[in-house]
Amino acid sequence: MTTDVAVVGAGVIGLSTAINVQTTIPGARVTVIADKLYEGTTSYGSGGMFIPSITSLPNESIEDLRNWCRESWNFYRKLSLSPEASEIGTIIMSGYDLVDQKLHPKDPLYKEFVFSTEELSRSELTDLGFQQFRTGFRVTTIIIFMRKYLIWLRKRFEENGGKIEKRHLNSLGELSGQYDIVMNCCGPSSAQLVNDNRAYPVRGHIVRVRAPWIKHWFLTDGHSYIIPGEDLVRLGGVKQVGNTSLEVDPRDTKAIMEGVEKLCPNIKGAVVESEWVGLRPGRDRVRLEPEIMHFGGKRLPVVHNYGHSSQGIGLSWGTSVYAARLAADILKSGAKL
Ligand SMILES: Cc1cc2nc3c(=O)[nH]c(=O)nc-3n(C[C@H](O)[C@H](O)[C@H](O)COP(=O)(O)OP(=O)(O)OC[C@H]3O[C@@H](n4cnc5c(N)ncnc54)[C@H](O)[C@@H]3O)c2cc1C
Repeated sequence: MTTDVAVVGAGVIGLSTAINVQTTIPGARVTVIADKLYEGTTSYGSGGMFIPSITSLPNESIEDLRNWCRESWNFYRKLSLSPEASEIGTIIMSGYDLVDQKLHPKDPLYKEFVFSTEELSRSELTDLGFQQFRTGFRVTTIIIFMRKYLIWLRKRFEENGGKIEKRHLNSLGELSGQYDIVMNCCGPSSAQLVNDNRAYPVRGHIVRVRAPWIKHWFLTDGHSYIIPGEDLVRLGGVKQVGNTSLEVDPRDTKAIMEGVEKLCPNIKGAVVESEWVGLRPGRDRVRLEPEIMHFGGKRLPVVHNYGHSSQGIGLSWGTSVYAARLAADILKSGAKL
């Protein structure tokens, strides 16, 4: 008997989960169901840095975070070193992680995974114009260009026989009776779709400018960041909890430009090409767990994989590997949880 799997969501979490289900449950018929593909997803506009930290997921188990990071890093590392790296949208890039707060860990979580991390001395901080920061690290990591990477994930999924259905769901119950299992990767919509009161939106805003002279990324714990892309440089950012407006607010644009000009004065005068607003799927920890849901007397096994907050690109492959394993275990056990 063929196993029918629905994956709700076509962001980075949904597409990564869908591919992992295809490889972990051989022969499964996998359908991705989503009301937005590419542009409308948070993943599409994201900064795309692999720079995981514990700050935006304060109640996450550090052991789980490490396991997910390890899976993701090994995957992205292989992609970024492969001849297809440019087509996939993964690039190795160095930059500066600058820390103002006392509480920031001296050994950041990403240190265990990225290519290299060196702490900057006080004189290096001053030389580089970062004297206002308490600590700083020079880091070589991977940047994922999401506009390319999502296309590559989708292509890989469809080449493996996967189908995509563009459709809005008001409830996962609409899938009951049609699928053996549902992978719920609905990202920032989880408060509405599965009534999760621990989930909340965190609004973000990216300004894209033409500044080809910027060759490094810069990240601060005060929200400002600069990430060179293939053509444009992405500038951020804001983290507004509970604000769900997807409109560009010129006051945010102004605050972003002021923040990045303080960090890197030679960005001043760069021409703004476009702006993008999206909602991070905020949560105190990722929801990666199975649940047997009931709709009209019918049981529907579900694996939730959402709530990655500011870390969704970095953690996506890792949590998806684990989500697919959970699905395989449920199906093997005849959905008895
Ligand atoms: C400005 C900004 C910068 C960021 N920078 C980084 C970074 O540098 N590194 C990093 O790791 N993370 C970063 N993030 C976080 C990261 O982008 C997110 O964690 C990640 O994109 C979440 O992916 P997702 O697949 O869960 O959600 P999404 O990409 O939003 O996908 C959700 C999917 O679910 C579908 N869906 C939802 N509800 C329904 C429904 N009812 N019916 C049908 N379909 C539905 C949607 O259509 C969509 O396809 C950033 C976020 C922002 C906003």
